Order: sequence, then structure tokens, then C-alpha cells
Amino acid sequence: MTAKRKKLYEGKAKVIFAGTTDDTLIQYFKDDATAYNAQKHAVLHGKGVLNNAISCHIMTLLADAGIKHHLIRQISPREQLIRKCTIIPVEVVVRNIATGSMVARLGGAHIPIKSGTPLKTPMVEYYLKEDALNDPIITEDHIVEFALASREEITFMRLTALAINHFLRNIFHDINITLVDFKLEFGRANHPLPDDPPLILADEISPDNCRLWDKATGDSKDKDRFRQDLGNLVEAYQDIATRLGLTITEKHYD
Ligand code: UDP
Repeated sequence: MTAKRKKLYEGKAKVIFAGTTDDTLIQYFKDDATAYNAQKHAVLHGKGVLNNAISCHIMTLLADAGIKHHLIRQISPREQLIRKCTIIPVEVVVRNIATGSMVARLGGAHIPIKSGTPLKTPMVEYYLKEDALNDPIITEDHIVEFALASREEITFMRLTALAINHFLRNIFHDINITLVDFKLEFGRANHPLPDDPPLILADEISPDNCRLWDKATGDSKDKDRFRQDLGNLVEAYQDIATRLGLTITEKHYD
């Protein structure tokens, strides 16, 4: 299926191919899982199909809520047609519960925070998208000073990320899942439409870039299963897909 496509870029979990027109691209979801800046790697059969389906479903729900994104439509089990945009090299992380890198970085005498502590208010952080530097955390002033995005674009990313958090929390609450944190990427549309906002949501929203905890058991239903060697990652992603009402089963993984 991908043989005839022109590959433009290959990332850790996805490949970008030329699209069907000058203003589109094709985003292909691989089964590769990486963590700790790709020091850890595995191929987990079915992950790409599940992430493609989950991300398409969530992006579609977000569009209904007024969030503009790059997805045009899913075109195959592993592929989606997307609008061409230039990605801002800043990862926008929203946190509802402290865990992961935030606890590792800040937990101590002054901030005696333990993994699993709910935050009083959802929090937005920015990370430079630069594997060679291990994606360091950066501030708004860094982003403006080094011309990664304008002050207005940062405000747009922050407010949109918080609005997305509001919608996603409800979507996951309804399927008995706590949305702990997640990462977003935004881009500037290469062929802007008249009603486009300054930036559109890009990349993916899936268990690869969200932390999702089962409300009943506390189990991780996300990439922490791989990061922490908990096993059964594909089964956990499948559970999320099924709870979201998606009719994917093992027979669709190929
Ligand atoms: N995240 C991501 N890509 C990254 C770093 C983080 O998708 O390169 C997501 C991660 O899955 C989690 C959230 O962003 O949902 C916050 O991750 P954190 O900063 O705690 O980093 P980690 O502990 O995963 O290194």
C-alpha cells in the first residue's frame, strides 16, 4: 500500500509521505514503540492501527467542539490524509495530575510532590522538540526570543491546549479513564484557509502521547506500559479503542 508513496520523513512512530495534492500529506502509523529518546525500542504488532483509529476518532470529536486540526480523513488502517503544515518545534504538555518528568524534575524538599498527586489547576508546559538535547523544558520567553513562535501563537497554543484538555477529560471520564497528562503539537498551515486560526493542531492524540489511568484499577492504559516494562501495551490500547466504541480487533492489525 505504501510502495507507491514518496517518503518525505520518517520519525520514531510515524512516516510522512507526499499527499494526493500539493496541500496534503499522508501520515502513516508504524508499530514501533520508543522511549527515553529512542534508547529503548520495540515493534508491537497492532499499535499503529490502534493509534491511527484512536487519533482519528479523537480529532473528529475535537473538530465537532470547534478545534481546527490537520486531519482530513483516515484513508487506510495505518494512514490518514492530513493538511500540510510546518510544525512549531515546541511540544505542548498539559498536566492534570503530577507524574513522570515533572515529579522527577521538581519533587524534593521544596515541592514534596508524589506521582499521582492531582494538580489544583491544569498546567501547561513547553518542551523544545530536539532529540539531540533530550527535548529540554523551555519558557515562553525562550520561544519568543529564539523565534520558534510569536507571543500571540503561544497564547493560542496555551488556550487551545487547555480547551482540548477540557474536552478530552470529559471524553475519557465517560469511559472510566482519568486523563493524567498529554502532549500536543501545532503547525502553521502551508495553504491557510480563510477561517483558519493562527495555528492548527497536528501530530496525533493517542495512548502514545497521553497518560490514561483506569479509574477503577489505576492501571496505565498508555505508553507507560512500554516505558516501565509493564507488558500488554497493545491490549491496553485495544481496551481504549473498544471503550471509545471503535470496532477494531486483532484481525485488523495487519
Ligand atoms: N510526551 C510525549 N512525547 C514526548 C514527551 C512526553 O508524547 O517526547 C507525553 C507523555 O506521553 C505524557 C506527557 O507528554 O503523556 C508528559 O510526559 P513527561 O514530561 O512526564 O515525560 P516522560 O515522563 O514521559 O519522559
